[in-house]
Amino acid sequence: MSSKTFHTLHDFVRHGMNIHLTCDNPPCPHTAILDAFMVCQWARLWRWPMAIEADVMRHFRCSKCGARRPHPRPTEQAVTLLNFFPDERGWKRLQQRMRG
Ligand SMILES: [Zn+2]
Repeated sequence: MSSKTFHTLHDFVRHGMNIHLTCDNPPCPHTAILDAFMVCQWARLWRWPMAIEADVMRHFRCSKCGARRPHPRPTEQAVTLLNFFPDERGWKRLQQRMRG
């Protein structure tokens, strides 16, 4: 575990991990687990940076209190936030729109 590094969203996918997000607002403290592969696709679509250091987390907002920049860590637990991303048709529509 200690040899694994998680500097980019791709790292989570590469290591077969999901992304466990903890709200930055201590009294909140909402958590959610996202599918790393979906997050990568989503980030690429919106041309977000892939690196955690490049502040990609500013694009994520807590669904409970609205705080930005949740803290990401790798987890093998199952995804809890299933409706964050559109369904397959929604993806296609979005991709067509982004291609312009
Ligand atoms: Zn929160």
